[in-house]
Order: sequence, then structure tokens, then C-alpha cells
Amino acid sequence: MMYAHMEDIIIIGGGAIGAFIARNLSRYQLNVLVLEKENDVGDATSMANSAIVHSGYDPVPGTKKARFNVEGNALFPSVCEELDVEFEQCGSMTLATEEKQLQTLKELEQRGKDNGVVTRLLSRAEVLRLEPNVSPDVKGALLCPTAGIVNPFTLVAHAFENALDNGVKLSLGEEVLAIEKRDGSFVLKTNKGQREAKIVINAAGVKSEEVTKMVEPVDWTVNPRKGEYYVLDHYAPGLVNHVLFPLPSEKGKGVLVTHTTSGNYLVGPSSEWVEDKDDHSTDSETLSNVKAQASLMVPNIPFREQIRVFAGVRATPSTHDFIIEPAKTAPNFILCAGIESPGLVSSPAIGRYVVEELVRPLIPLVPKANYQPCVKKYVRFSALTEEQKEALVEQNPHFGEVICNCEKVTLGEIEDVLSRSLPCLTIKAVKKRTRAGFGKCQGGFCQPKVLLLLAKKLGVSPLEVLYDRAGSNILRKESK
Ligand SMILES: Cc1cc2nc3c(=O)[nH]c(=O)nc-3n(C[C@H](O)[C@H](O)[C@H](O)COP(=O)(O)OP(=O)(O)OC[C@H]3O[C@@H](n4cnc5c(N)ncnc54)[C@H](O)[C@@H]3O)c2cc1C
Repeated sequence: MMYAHMEDIIIIGGGAIGAFIARNLSRYQLNVLVLEKENDVGDATSMANSAIVHSGYDPVPGTKKARFNVEGNALFPSVCEELDVEFEQCGSMTLATEEKQLQTLKELEQRGKDNGVVTRLLSRAEVLRLEPNVSPDVKGALLCPTAGIVNPFTLVAHAFENALDNGVKLSLGEEVLAIEKRDGSFVLKTNKGQREAKIVINAAGVKSEEVTKMVEPVDWTVNPRKGEYYVLDHYAPGLVNHVLFPLPSEKGKGVLVTHTTSGNYLVGPSSEWVEDKDDHSTDSETLSNVKAQASLMVPNIPFREQIRVFAGVRATPSTHDFIIEPAKTAPNFILCAGIESPGLVSSPAIGRYVVEELVRPLIPLVPKANYQPCVKKYVRFSALTEEQKEALVEQNPHFGEVICNCEKVTLGEIEDVLSRSLPCLTIKAVKKRTRAGFGKCQGGFCQPKVLLLLAKKLGVSPLEVLYDRAGSNILRKESK
């Protein structure tokens, strides 16, 4: 099918980078369409990472990574306030566990200064006072007070919701297969038909190399590097209070131990080159290695509280830096390629840069009079006081019906996300927006209820409801 409409801008990819480009474009009077091949936004690397809002002491000074990390970190408090996203500026510590590593901490402190990041060297005693569960072998640490943790699922979803509220269009389940350059526009062949746009922005994550090659040859590659993690239940607070890193190496930032915005703990990631860009498998050998490395920093991690393991795939560029620039042969094709870590924290700053520095010279950016920077606030029932809960249930009894017992998610909260502008088409989309299914039973109890709610909302048979991708139907056939 050929869509008759010519878009001003098409964004390929609905991850964190696509989300913040879309949100920044939605301030202006433009026709913007986002094409995402999965059935939800944020279903690739942006949902399978450490979710650390890095301070920015680590990237090499002068690189795009350093610039956008530091700018992104500064934007996070206001962005998360506007988008009602869970964010905690808990700070990070990079630990030295051997005497000779103290010199490296000093070098990292200097690198932080070069990047404009405030840090402080801590003595062994200071580390143990702030983090009593750290190994007594610790020799010192670099404290970065501006680092934090974020909910990566709601970050992407709410940024898209805000963009959609402000007029951006989104097509899920639509994969770009080929791109034809025309005079002043591009025709995109997708699995659903053809689209045309004056400007195309490639935010295709680990597939950004393949999408660029649809337009021109490249002299760089994006190589998949997998990271595997353990997730522990929110069994008790206080195992760690900061994001704890070992010293970085050529393999990256190393295996970290952190709490998450939901009070769980995350231990990982590994760093393995893989062939397949869609390889999200985990294996016990790699995970045992993750466990061993993490235990050097925090010896008594209660791995019996583990409720899940997962893997994410980094889009590691051969250039060692983010590739954010117009294509060499087509100025109206903008690349956001090789956005590996610190891509999540950088995403608000990259979104702003792409729009203000790369799109602005191509098309008039006329502000919308009615642009609204905030999403409608969400109810997080479990975080309310008893009085607030009672008042809310009085108003709407569906907030008194708990659907997910582990995470205490109510029917009212699920109905809210199903009624928002951002489509919520799959069980995993409901999970990422509300946390229903994220708990100890991993959806064993709530999934059938969520499935029926989705079937009703989407007007389909329960047999047709998907977990995430095509073919991931939970129910196979009626038995009686
Ligand atoms: C193990 C690991 C740990 C990390 N930890 C951190 C961290 O703590 N802090 C941090 O700042 N960053 C971290 N990152 C990096 C961060 O997660 C990424 O930089 C960021 O999520 C990249 O976002 P993106 O939008 O570029 O990619 P993605 O989220 O992958 O989005 C790209 C989207 O494009 C879609 N797409 C691809 N091809 C097509 C096509 N042909 N047509 C239509 N759609 C298409 C995909 O389906 C996908 O949804 C980590 C990454 C990993 C893997």
C-alpha cells in the first residue's frame, strides 16, 4: 500500500533515541511519523540495560559520548519530572579493590574534571561507612553524586506518549526494508507498504548500520556486544545505596551492583561479542562469571533472591564514538548509529541536538502554540498513603482491585495505561508500563487477567493476544 501523505520527517526506530527525537520534534509544526518494527516502543536495547544515569566522568573527553552523557545527565531531573518517570539521583561509586588501583581512581577523577563532572575521592573508611556491605578489601572509591538510576521502560514509553499527545504519529509492527532516494525525499519500503518523507532519521539501534546501508555504503560497523544480568527481588532495602562499579576496562564499565527504581537489585552485565544482533540468550557460565566478579565488590549478594536473568545487546560502533551526523551523500538522512552506553542517559541531549542542530537547517521549525511538555500524572497505587488509597478507591473502585499481587498493581492502573495515547498492544507492554508481571511470580498469577483485559480493550479473541512479537500468543486453542 502506498500512503498518499508525504511526511516531513520519518524516524526509524522506537527506542530511547527515537523517543527523544520525536518528543523534541513534537514542539514544532511538522508532520512526524515514527516507524517501529516491534509491537511496542522500547522493546529492544532500551529495555535491556543497566538503566544507570551515568555522571559522565568515564567517556574520553572531547567525544560525543562525553558531551551527550554530561548534557543528558543534567537534563534528567527535569525530563523525568515532566514525563513522570521514576528517577533517583543516588550517586555512583567506582571502587578500587587493590592498592595500585588508587592511581587509576585519581586519573578518573581528572577525566571527570575534563568532562565537567564533579567527583570526590573517598577513603576506605568513608566507603565502608556509606556502603557497609562492600568488601572489607576495598581501598577507596570515586564518588559521583550526580549519577542516578531510572526506570528505562517508562522513560521511553512516557517520552513517546508525550510526543503522541503533541501530534507525532507512530506505527508499530512496521519494519523498514529498503529506502529509495528521490529528489528531495525518500521512499521507504516497509512490511506494510510504502512511506515517503522529506527527512529520515535513522535511530535503529543495533540495526543502524543495516538501515544506513539502505542509503549509502559505510566505512564503519556496529557490532553486537551482549551483556547478561541477574535481577534480584525487592526483598529488603539497603544492600547497596549507590551504583557500585569496578574500575572500567577496555571491555567497558564492568559488572555493577545497583538497586533499581523499583527496589530490586541488578547485577551485571557481562561483555561478550556475538554474531547475531538479536541474540538475547543467557548462559550459566557467563552468569557464574558475573556472579564471581560482583562478589569481589559485594561479597554477600543474596543470589537466592534472584527472580530473573536477561541479556541486552550493545550497538558498539567501530569508531568508538556515537555516530550522529547527516549521511555523506544525503544531508536529509540523519544517522544516530552506534549508540551504545551511555546512550540511555544521553538520549534527551541527543534528541535535542538532532532537532536543533541537524534538523533545523533542513526545514523551518515553527513552534506549536499548544505544545504540552508534561504527561498526565500516573497513579502508583502502592506508593500512596492509606488515606490517599482510600480516597482513590472511593472515587474509582477499580483502584481497589489488585491484579498483580507481587507488585501490587491495580485494575485502575492497567485501565489507565490502556486508555493513553501510546498504544499498549501486548502483555509485555502492560508489564513495562505498570510492572504487572515483573514480580516474584513473573506473571504466573496476573498474566491471565492482563490477557483478558487486553483482549477486551483491543476487541480481539483472547487467543489473539500476544506476549510481544508475532507468534508469541499465550493461548494456542480452546480446549473445551
Ligand atoms: C548491557 C547494556 C547495558 C547498558 N547500560 C546503560 C546504562 O546503564 N546507561 C546508559 O546510559 N546506557 C546504557 N546502555 C546503552 C543504552 O541502552 C542504549 O544506548 C540505548 O538504549 C540505545 O537506544 P536506541 O534507541 O538507539 O536503540 P534501541 O532501543 O535498540 O531502539 C532501536 C529501535 O529500532 C527498531 N528498528 C531497528 N531496525 C528497524 C527497522 N528496519 N524498521 C523499523 N524499526 C527498526 C528496533 O526494533 C528498536 O526498537 C546499555 C546497553 C546495554 C546493551
